[in-house]
Amino acid sequence: MGPNGFLDSNPSTFDLCKELGLQEELLPASASAARNRYLYLKNRLHKLPSNLFGMAFSPVLSIRGKLQILTEGLRTKRAIPEEESIADFFRARVGNEVACSLGDAFVTGIWGGDSEQLSLPSCFPKWREMEISHGSILRGLKARRIAKSRVAREAGLAKPPSPRMWSLKKGLGQLIDTLAVHLGSRLRIHQKVSALQPVRGQPRAEWRVFIDGHEKPETFDHVILACPAHEQARLIAPYSPALANTLLEIPTTPIAVIGLLFPESQICGDAVKPDGFGYLTPQKDGRPVMGVQWCSAIFPGHRSPPGWHLWRALVGGPNQSQLLDLNDETLTKVVLAELKTVGNWALNPECVHIFRWKRAIPQYTLGHAKRTQAILEAQKTLPGLNCAGSCMGGVAINDCVEQSAKLAAGLVERLTKISG
Ligand SMILES: Cc1cc2nc3c(=O)[nH]c(=O)nc-3n(C[C@H](O)[C@H](O)[C@H](O)COP(=O)(O)OP(=O)(O)OC[C@H]3O[C@@H](n4cnc5c(N)ncnc54)[C@H](O)[C@@H]3O)c2cc1C
Repeated sequence: MGPNGFLDSNPSTFDLCKELGLQEELLPASASAARNRYLYLKNRLHKLPSNLFGMAFSPVLSIRGKLQILTEGLRTKRAIPEEESIADFFRARVGNEVACSLGDAFVTGIWGGDSEQLSLPSCFPKWREMEISHGSILRGLKARRIAKSRVAREAGLAKPPSPRMWSLKKGLGQLIDTLAVHLGSRLRIHQKVSALQPVRGQPRAEWRVFIDGHEKPETFDHVILACPAHEQARLIAPYSPALANTLLEIPTTPIAVIGLLFPESQICGDAVKPDGFGYLTPQKDGRPVMGVQWCSAIFPGHRSPPGWHLWRALVGGPNQSQLLDLNDETLTKVVLAELKTVGNWALNPECVHIFRWKRAIPQYTLGHAKRTQAILEAQKTLPGLNCAGSCMGGVAINDCVEQSAKLAAGLVERLTKISG
């Protein structure tokens, strides 16, 4: 239903798994998943090169598009705006064609959102830093490669390791289940917080937490809200309407995940072989499926029985949210028809599982950095309360884990100081 894996370029989730004793359960994505990713463009699937420079030699782009990439480093310095959309950034650096194809598909793959609306500094701050420090993305990438090679050499490695995607043998739910076991009775699930109430006191403020179905509230030292932004807004609104309004300005994108299980024999004739991660398609093309993950090829032997494939099609996004309203049968038909068009896959799945996320992924749209700043400022007027979660500090699982660890460490330090 949800996330597929996490990268080891940020060690937070990997380390958390190890801390929980899950090291034997960690599962790397296949080499082919790392190597082969496809883009559906101009009525065919193209294998994507592994880097931006490689795009200059890919048939995906016209000669003009290729030249735009090759000459990216020669472009005169521009006044870098404090805020701009990802699409505008791509247009400024490598032209409209790359912005509308590769840039759009890249954003779809991570954010499931609209590159014209999403903020570059909030979604991809490193690209902005590269432009500021090196005046060019290609030069920035080269500098990063050289720095990484130096670190690898110093560590006695022949070359820097490439970032790899990981999951757990039984799926990422295994991480959540193991966390739950470790937390024991301190963790309470299926209990909805219906309201909050501050109890201003010295030396510290406390919060009353009202839980659905419970007669009396419970009092806590501190509350960290890690629920979606609209829910945080509802809980905070009575005490800080301004903070609640800012939280409500963080939109989300709707996504339906359609899981398909079918026998390998259905990939036949001239159907494209699913030998990698899957494919993406730019949302600007208006195709009904944003992308498909070939889960049984990403984690072979762990996501489907031998001789079977498990795929996940992602449908929706900001421009096609109406597709989530289709009933299961029609949605399945739409997906299967699209798969026939894209890869000549004539599938008749044995099992179809559909999950609709009405609010799948928070969108860091233009102005997000200012909104985050305003939230952090406003929460100072509510001592003992933090707003957190994917609406604030990054949407990848790695970001969420990293953010929680920092928040928890800061909180323990503060509470220890107060009581000590
Ligand atoms: C289809 C899909 C695929 C994805 N793929 C990847 C991927 O491959 N890799 C990756 O890194 N990220 C991926 N993501 C993003 C990632 O999964 C999310 O950003 C991340 O899990 C968000 O975590 P969170 O804890 O902030 O929010 P959530 O997971 O939304 O958790 C919020 C929790 O708050 C609870 N809650 C809400 N209201 C209340 C209340 N009143 N009282 C008590 N509890 C409440 C909810 O029940 C929920 O459990 C994907 C997301 C989607 C939707």
